[in-house]
Amino acid sequence: EPLITIKNIGRKYVIGTEVIHALKDVSLTINKGEFVALMGPSGSGKSTLMNILGCLDTPTKGEYILNGINVSHMSDNQLAEVRNSEIGFVFQTFNLLPRNTALDNVALPLIYSGVSKVDRLARAEQALKNVGLGNRIDHRPNELSGGQRQRVAVARALINDPSIILADEPTGNLDTKTSIEIMSLMEDIHAKGNTIILVTHEEDIAMHAHRIVRMRDGLVERDYINTNVQIVD
Ligand code: ADP
Ligand code: ADP
Repeated sequence: EPLITIKNIGRKYVIGTEVIHALKDVSLTINKGEFVALMGPSGSGKSTLMNILGCLDTPTKGEYILNGINVSHMSDNQLAEVRNSEIGFVFQTFNLLPRNTALDNVALPLIYSGVSKVDRLARAEQALKNVGLGNRIDHRPNELSGGQRQRVAVARALINDPSIILADEPTGNLDTKTSIEIMSLMEDIHAKGNTIILVTHEEDIAMHAHRIVRMRDGLVERDYINTNVQIVD
């Protein structure tokens, strides 16, 4: 069944007298459990689409239905609620709080979900163990390597059991070996039934996804199954 249905969405930005059509007319259906790579040249609309998929922004035309909820016309407060329960974000720059430990960073989203402190810390510790960081829970971001920081971010993205993981260039700041480790982690998460949408401009990284959506000039140029899925052992 579709987890994401976007129908003929557009997003234009109006700056003075100039109108920029960042997304012209995009339709996509993504089912539960898919692992999709979103590709395309700079300026093709990937970030705009990810912002809409992540409920950080709404389209200026068309409809977006996420997990049965029509989020196309929601207020910022309503979107914030949907984001907290439905979306896990992973960023190129990790976006961890520098003064907080790994444990506190991972536990943070649970505050907004009203989970008690004891449960927050227990769940965050388990989430860190699940990404191989059980022995790093009290470390601050600057005491961790890039790959470890991204693992913390992945644990944080998963903590609310979201219906989709949105990863924007998650390996963009990592060396090749560490990138492969993070993609292996993404594969494990996918294998557990999670739905992942990943923006990347690296073909090697996109090869880990099962479906590739290529954008150009605010449109989907190609949308196809990756028959050469590369699995890391
Ligand atoms: P690209 O996808 O073209 O590589 P990025 O996604 O990295 O570009 O973003 C391009 C610029 O837009 C960057 O300067 C970034 O800081 C800014 N940007 C991206 N997303 C947002 C956002 N949600 N809000 C504000 N600025 C953003
Ligand atoms: P990508 O992520 O593929 O690089 P973007 O979605 O960031 O593409 O940008 C698509 C187009 O929309 C570009 O022409 C960009 O300059 C424009 N754009 C993106 N964000 C804004 C914004 N906040 N205000 C005005 N124009 C924007």
